[in-house]
Amino acid sequence: MKSFFFKVFIVISCCSSNLVGAQETSKIMIEATHVAGNVSVLMGVGGFSGGNVGVSAGEDGLLIIDDKLAPMSEKLEAKLAAMNKGDVKFLINTHWHFDHTGANAVFGSKKAIIVAHENVRKLLESPQELKAFKMKLPASPKAALPTITFKQSASVHFNGEEIQVIHMPNGHTDGDSVIYFTKSNVLHMGDHFFNHLFPFIDLEHGGSVKGMARNVAQAIERFPADAKVIPGHGALGDMEDLKAFHEMLVATTKIVEDQMKAGKSLEQIQVAGLPEKWDSWQWEFFDTKGWIGIVHTSLSM
Ligand SMILES: [Zn+2]
Repeated sequence: MKSFFFKVFIVISCCSSNLVGAQETSKIMIEATHVAGNVSVLMGVGGFSGGNVGVSAGEDGLLIIDDKLAPMSEKLEAKLAAMNKGDVKFLINTHWHFDHTGANAVFGSKKAIIVAHENVRKLLESPQELKAFKMKLPASPKAALPTITFKQSASVHFNGEEIQVIHMPNGHTDGDSVIYFTKSNVLHMGDHFFNHLFPFIDLEHGGSVKGMARNVAQAIERFPADAKVIPGHGALGDMEDLKAFHEMLVATTKIVEDQMKAGKSLEQIQVAGLPEKWDSWQWEFFDTKGWIGIVHTSLSM
């Protein structure tokens, strides 16, 4: 547990104070991959750049979903400029986390309209703490705040299609949305989908492991089986990958819950671990012990 938190603390603490800057992010590149229709995804290569950015590029210009860590903003802008569609007109935030909203002020000050669930604005406009990571985050400047907020859902009609923004309550946080491009048939799940990776759940800001599983099940039910699916973190996926993520959430939660009911302590559950089939879901942020810790804390709340 100690090493897990240590690792996360190093990564997060340097990102939050923008010190990933010069040296660290100089090695990280942003790669664009066409997904389907008008939609591409921008992913970091060579290090942690923040969440995956969805891009709609077409006759109306550019719309993006999320905008990575603050120190990645210049590279992100350069990649978008290379698409030759002008400035970003709309920016949709899937949720408030700094690795998805890092360049909000950059795009907001250039007149991009920022759209997000109302809780994203509420969280960004005042100082926040992420105790799990020993992080204190200052209030965001005005230019970084969403100017259009909604409670349930919103649609942006852009580049020849309806782009649906749908709130998913109390899953990864209390303010997440997933975004569906109705003609391109692409779904951006934000951090309701870590593709074959154990996810982070922000329990301090309304997240819950069972809420996340419920929301993911609803997305699988609601959207076409042949949709391409962009995860918040990890490789581009499809509905089968999203189903595998849901299966992991449900199965590992049940394992932890059953042991809690049997009176086992967190340490005992961590020592027992998870079946081997979930070993490959470990990554730089969350190993099996770390994931069990999140599930245990969530079930104890
Ligand atoms: Zn997140």
